[in-house]
Amino acid sequence: MSRKESQSNDKTHRRFHPETRALHEGWHPEDPGEPLVPSWDPSTIFRHPGQGLSAGTWSYTRLDNPNRSQLEKTLASLEGGSEALMFASGMAAVQAVFHILAPGDHVLLPGDLYHGVRILISEQYERWGLSFNFVDMTRPDAVVEAATDRTRMIWMETPSNPMLKISDIAALSQLARDRGWISVVDNTWCTPVIQRPLELGANIVLYSTTKYLGGHSDVLGGALVLRNTDQSPPSDGSSTLAERLRSLQRQAGAVPSPFDCWLMMRSLKTLYVRIRAQATAAEMIAEKLMEHHFVEEVYYPGLADHPGHHIAVRQMDLPGAMISFRIRGDEETALRVVSSSRVIIPATSLGGVESTWEHRRTSEYKGSATPGNLIRLSVGLEHPDDIRDDIDRSLECCRSAK
Ligand SMILES: *Cc1c(COP(=O)(O)O)cnc(C)c1O
Repeated sequence: MSRKESQSNDKTHRRFHPETRALHEGWHPEDPGEPLVPSWDPSTIFRHPGQGLSAGTWSYTRLDNPNRSQLEKTLASLEGGSEALMFASGMAAVQAVFHILAPGDHVLLPGDLYHGVRILISEQYERWGLSFNFVDMTRPDAVVEAATDRTRMIWMETPSNPMLKISDIAALSQLARDRGWISVVDNTWCTPVIQRPLELGANIVLYSTTKYLGGHSDVLGGALVLRNTDQSPPSDGSSTLAERLRSLQRQAGAVPSPFDCWLMMRSLKTLYVRIRAQATAAEMIAEKLMEHHFVEEVYYPGLADHPGHHIAVRQMDLPGAMISFRIRGDEETALRVVSSSRVIIPATSLGGVESTWEHRRTSEYKGSATPGNLIRLSVGLEHPDDIRDDIDRSLECCRSAK
């Protein structure tokens, strides 16, 4: 049996729990002599069958390849979607989503979101005739007010970046469905371990797989996960969202390499244990930060006094492993705190097994609205007490600043 056949046969592992599917869905040896670990297929081209090419035959790596297909199958299964599409980066996935819109269309985005998306839409897509508004997505009434008769898409990011605001995915997706808008959720901070937006009614789930899904800060990537039943506008039944985005992925070609896909498959195997351990540590650390005399405010949806806590409890299985906090001190002191840690590495990005933190305002440079005394922490897999002690030691910088 060729490898393509063995992957596309009807054996599905969907009856198993997601932890099990993370290990067996995309690749599971069936025949004697098959490797436990999937092979890496770097070839860009594949030998044609005698009758010529047909759909479902490997031919050219930009279109499809074994490693990408295994990864897409695994991620779709974990997210509860019917299809996943891999991209070379999170931003390549974002770009594909904006490309299903037409000049004149209007997009609603959260005021507090990944700064790369804000810059992309402002600097590139305004010239293409897209219009957009940044709104407070914690208030559905503000979303309705900001809509125009050309609104076609609502973009959600919850918890938001870097303020960890919580918006109600089910309510906003329903609001979008009632009006014929496409709903998109950037689920990078949560992963399907914590939050599954398709189950809450969203049309498209977006990932920077560079973060938690990759988990080891060594592979860049992006993904979209969808159901193949959602129609793409104009809803004349001509194509589904999944079909349009699949065409964009293959035609535009911002795809990950087979090796990147192979690495990502390997990362998904430990996703559930990583995320749970990191989130458990983060809960403890957030509580400690709350009590700390050099900390002014903590932003973490697991805390009972977080304004979005009640929604978080409903739509998130865990509060996540990202914490933002403002120190009692100025921007200069915050920068000093971040660079004086011994365990936590001062670096941008998030979701790796090593804890990192950053002074978010200077990382966002252009047009940042982030407070100067805010530090954003990505809790890793070190012993939680070592992370906590490192924070305590670093916060001593606030004392000398007084
Ligand atoms: C990092 C990130 C992105 C962009 O992904 P890249 O892989 O860096 O292109 C998008 N959204 C969120 C929430 C992110 O953290």
